[in-house]
Amino acid sequence: MRIALKECRFQRWGDPSKQIELDDPDGHAEALLAALAAGPQTIPELRERLAESGLDVGIPELQAAVAALDSTRLLEAPDDPAPGSPALDERYHSNLAFFAHFATLDAPRAEFQRRLGRSHVLQLGTGGLGSNVLQSLAGLGVGRLTLLDHDVVEPRNFARQFLYRESHIGASKVRRAADWIRAFDSRIEVATVERRVEGPGDVAGLLDGVDLVVSGIDRPASVDQWVNEACVGARVPWIRGGMLGTELVYFSVDPGRSPCLACWKKTTYDVETSTPGVEAVGIRLSESLPRSNPGIGPVAAFLGSLVAFEALRCLTRYEPPYSAGAKTYVEVAGGCQQRREPWPEDPDCAVCRRARERLPVGAAGP
Ligand SMILES: [Zn+2]
Repeated sequence: MRIALKECRFQRWGDPSKQIELDDPDGHAEALLAALAAGPQTIPELRERLAESGLDVGIPELQAAVAALDSTRLLEAPDDPAPGSPALDERYHSNLAFFAHFATLDAPRAEFQRRLGRSHVLQLGTGGLGSNVLQSLAGLGVGRLTLLDHDVVEPRNFARQFLYRESHIGASKVRRAADWIRAFDSRIEVATVERRVEGPGDVAGLLDGVDLVVSGIDRPASVDQWVNEACVGARVPWIRGGMLGTELVYFSVDPGRSPCLACWKKTTYDVETSTPGVEAVGIRLSESLPRSNPGIGPVAAFLGSLVAFEALRCLTRYEPPYSAGAKTYVEVAGGCQQRREPWPEDPDCAVCRRARERLPVGAAGP
């Protein structure tokens, strides 16, 4: 395998969080970086180049030094085949440049793109959140999308749902959204489901082969509980985004790695319980109230981006999901500050326990 030094700068200014300082008492690290800067080469070629500059190192010593540099994400394997064709390389040029920052010798930049191409995302709702998320998912190169919605396009959608046109008023949202995806990238496999979610079975029945669920459905009040139950049971990560007044909120559940939504607070969404908590009462009361949606375009696009980023993390693992087992809030008044509130796992959580009991022995539990 040939090894290449990534684009980087030898300087001491800029963002300190992106600087790497190497301890180099004998100058060997500097010599190795200088040798790598000559271009992609194999370990024996590197050794030869170092010997020419008067530094005699053994192969094991050089391999250890390369591994140490690789752990700082300074190296990548330049000969990994790119996504498949010059046309795809061109289409995903920016994606690949983004992934380069997270690539290592074992996980080249193209591997992240291939993971997206193999991914199947179930998108629940193609309204304010969903229509924004799916545009990003399509641009990222997710290979397969299943869209669920029961609504038709209405004039009030145009403030934040930019997939739709005036000529679509009265038409099925999910079909128009699928048309948009097909026109945008004909390689994406897209399926539509025109119905409401009325129980966990409605979600569970759609999870075969699905890698991630993204939900922007607000009603009925128990819908998040149902999605959670279905996804945790099938060990499929899921992400939820929504809006509360002037706050955006999103979280993800990474089954086997994070607490689930039922862990968050059993009483919160359990509106059928005989002794409901304050929040459950609030949910029940608010169900009957008329609601006006304050999700303007920038709000829906911002939330869509945050959720699409979390989806990218879940699908490629370029970094761990940021909001797994944590609610991330963004207050749009006052400069869009974020705050993250993790919740603990509930050792008595029935949803997690059921999922855990189906795990193979030794597998990680939540
Ligand atoms: Zn749980």
